[in-house]
Amino acid sequence: MSQHAQKPIIIAGPCSAETEDQVMRTAAEIAGHSAVTAFRSGVWKPRSRPGNFEGAGDSALQWLQKVKKVYGLPTAVEVATPQHVEKALEAGVEYLWIGARTTSNPFSVQELTKALKGLEVKIMVKNPVNPDLSLWIGAIERIMKVTSAKVMAIHRGFYPYEQTPYRNIPKWEIPIELKTRMPEISIICDPSHISGNRALVPEVAQYALDLNFDGLMIETHINPEHALSDANQQLTPENLIKLLNNLQFRDQNI
Ligand code: PEP
Ligand code: MN
Repeated sequence: MSQHAQKPIIIAGPCSAETEDQVMRTAAEIAGHSAVTAFRSGVWKPRSRPGNFEGAGDSALQWLQKVKKVYGLPTAVEVATPQHVEKALEAGVEYLWIGARTTSNPFSVQELTKALKGLEVKIMVKNPVNPDLSLWIGAIERIMKVTSAKVMAIHRGFYPYEQTPYRNIPKWEIPIELKTRMPEISIICDPSHISGNRALVPEVAQYALDLNFDGLMIETHINPEHALSDANQQLTPENLIKLLNNLQFRDQNI
């Protein structure tokens, strides 16, 4: 969605940090591809229902520090509370993202702005769970009011309720409308949460690039079948690299 030929932002890494070994082995393989901008990993996981894996928590931040030190990859983490922001920044995380469930709640976003005020860290705002463009724009606006840092949007699709080929239906017209209303915002696509299954990820990723999205966030796990969250949609690092090599990027070589 960028008018200019810029290097796309490619963020890859597991849905959740599970163990140091899983994080480091995944990062080792991802770091081998020059297109990768940053390593993502959930540390505190927002689960829709209780009883599921809720993330490794604070200790996982040390693993991300190690990824940065050993492989030189900037890191990206989901934050939902001011405490998350503080802890992530202490660990040197460069990209923070606000998850779909948090974007849906203006009180939560407003709380987050207290910790984000004046910061220069990059902040990415996922669309809310439901196709409510105003909520998405509102969350971005709240953040832009407190920081002059780069704020980006992540399109991760919308909860459909009905059975569809997608876990979250893309409704491409919504991110397109966001770009029309906020042309200064970069938008990256998260084909993993749109697809919900790894077979669909490449075509969703290519479609986003054809629409000129500014980048992609792709869940990648050393052993996807045994992942503790989002096992169906994560790619192996090998398949991530194949995907990156096969994607057609407009006006740009990666
Ligand atoms: C995630 O990125 O792993 C995640 C929980 O995503 P979302 O907020 O889009 O559901
Ligand atoms: Mn996930």
